[in-house]
Parts: sequence; C-alpha cells; structure tokens
Amino acid sequence: MSTFLVVAEQKEGAFRQVTFEAVAAAKQAAGGAEITAVVLGRADQADELFSYGADNVLHVNDNQLDHYTPEGWSQALLQVIEQVNPDGIVLGHTAIGRDISPKLASRLKSGLVSDVVSIEDGPVFTRPIYSGKAFEKVTIDDGLVFFTIRPNNIASLEKQEGASGSVEEVSVTITDLQTVIKEVVKNTTSGVDLSEASVIVAGGRGMKNEENFTILDELASVLNGAVGASRGACDAEYCDYALQIGQTGKVVTPDLYIAVGISGAIQHVAGMSNSKVIVAINKDPEAEIFQIADYGIVGDLFEIVPKLTEEFRKA
Ligand code: FAD
Repeated sequence: MSTFLVVAEQKEGAFRQVTFEAVAAAKQAAGGAEITAVVLGRADQADELFSYGADNVLHVNDNQLDHYTPEGWSQALLQVIEQVNPDGIVLGHTAIGRDISPKLASRLKSGLVSDVVSIEDGPVFTRPIYSGKAFEKVTIDDGLVFFTIRPNNIASLEKQEGASGSVEEVSVTITDLQTVIKEVVKNTTSGVDLSEASVIVAGGRGMKNEENFTILDELASVLNGAVGASRGACDAEYCDYALQIGQTGKVVTPDLYIAVGISGAIQHVAGMSNSKVIVAINKDPEAEIFQIADYGIVGDLFEIVPKLTEEFRKA
C-alpha cells in the first residue's frame, strides 16, 4: 500500500508540535495513503504518534542520531526512504527541516515544496512568496510529493487517547560522521519555543537596553508565550540573535504577536506578518508597524507593558 513518510522531530524527549501537524498535513496530501512516521535516535514516547493519526511508526535506534547532524540524519533517512519507498515525505519547516530537506530532495532527484501553510485536495499546496507579500499555489504533477510545513499553520488532529500500535525498529548503517554533538548549551529566555509559540511578545530598539527586556519576559510569562526581537534589538545587544524575527531571522505565525518598540521595517514584517492578531505598541503614531497591526497602542512602552502584564495577571 502507498504510504507518506513523516519525519518526527523531538525536543528534550518530547515531540515538537510541528510533528503532529506534519502527520495531519500528510493525511491531507496523501489522498488515503497510509501515514508512516519515523523517529530517529532517542524515542521515549514514539507510540504517541499513533494517537495523532500515524498508521505506522518506525524507530531508528542509534544514539548517533539523538542530536541532529545533517550527515547522520541524511544517511539514516535515505536508508529508511529506500526501505519504505514512500509516495510522499513531510517535514516541519524548522531549522532541521530547512537544512535537510533540500539535501534529501537532491539525493532523491525529487522536487520540494517548502514552507507550506495550507493544503487543498489534489494536493494543492499554498506557500508564501516575496517575504510573505503574496501566496502561490503549487501542485506536483508526478514523482515524490515532498514538502515541508510551516509550524502553527496546519492544525494537528485531535489526540485519540488509547490509540496504539507497535513501533517497528528499523536498522540503518551510519558511517564516518564528521560531526559529533558533545554538549548542547541552551540560550533562550523562555521555555516556550519561539517558532511554535501561540503568543509572542517581541521587543525592538525602543526597549533601550538588555535589562528592560525583563518587562517583556514578564508579559510573555503571564501569557504563556515566548519573547522575540527585532534585528535592531539584537544588533544593539539587548538580546541574543536566537530571538530575531524577520527575513534573516525566524518566521513565526502565532495567534497573538505583540510588537513592542519595533518600527515595522519590511525585513521584520516578513517574519511576522502572518500572525493571526498583531498588537503594536509604539510612541510614534506614524510607525509603519501600525499599518499591519490589528490593534495599535500609541504611547510609552515602559508605561503600557507593565499595565498589560498587571491586567492579564488578573484575568
Ligand atoms: P527601530 O527602527 O529603531 O525602531 C524602534 C522603534 O521603537 C521606533 O519606532 C520608536 O518609535 C519606538 N520607540 C522608541 N522608544 C519607545 C518607547 N519608549 N515607547 C514606545 N515606542 C518606542 N530586521 C528585523 O527585525 N529582522 C530581520 O530579519 C531583518 N533582516 C534584515 C535583513 C537585511 C538584508 C537588512 C538590510 C535589514 C534587516 N533588518 C531586519 C533590519 C531592519 O531593516 C530594521 O533596521 C530593524 O528591524 C529595526 O529594528 P527596530 O524596529 O527594533 O528599531
């Protein structure tokens, strides 16, 4: 039977939400084909994938794959793909997905539709172009249906408690790895992953210094969100570049994006304009960010942000 292969991604032993979204996306695109998820390396909860709609779950038990390396994962995935012979492959459009999918597509001599935000029957894929200013619809006429999905855009299926199956072990041979991850040093200001956060509070150069970012941490924490930043704030060393949102940073699609002291330069907007609700706080009523904001608050962020935190805390 034909099958679509979903490549699972984990963070600290738990599946990233985009993995469940990829299973749902595979189902939409597969037109009735089976969905097979593959887990590389550590697999504490591999059977959870059955509850989100996977028909089969494969596990490659090799600790060289616990941490992502392009070489290790591509060697493993190419062997799994050869064994499964799927009609389609789906990955999240994450740092890993963006890194490895072109490499796999090139080895498989296949096309690749990247950064898909929605799928209609056909399948017809919709993806943003020109930094999110337009959308194009793409179909794949023949060959492998290979695509990546933008996190937070395609809803995962509702979790079916009690759904189960047996995880099948698959063996592959990993040779001559040039890169070995010895230690992972974390550098984030919040526990919520920026690319999957449903609420983002982002600060710009208007924050004035690094210490002032704590008021954003507080607001984000009350909203169970993540803190992001403009490149202006990163360049000024108010925060780490891992927080940068925009054309040369992360692309995010949260339910709520609060832009604080950010002017709204086109390169920043490219990374957040598809957020569902945008709130801008800026003292300059002419700031460009207000052109794309659903709600705008003109005023001093140092007065407004603590008040918002206080009010949300009461709610
Ligand atoms: P500013 O433009 O300086 O804006 C600060 C804002 O804070 C102003 O609007 C001001 O009115 C407001 N403000 C100041 N004080 C207060 C206060 N007390 N209360 C309320 N409001 C206040 N930028 C990105 O963000 N992401 C990218 O990925 C990115 N990629 C780029 C790629 C290229 C090739 C280039 C050329 C540029 C890129 N940029 C990117 C930079 C971008 O052009 C802007 O320079 C940057 O976004 C500006 O950051 P900012 O809005 O924080 O700063």
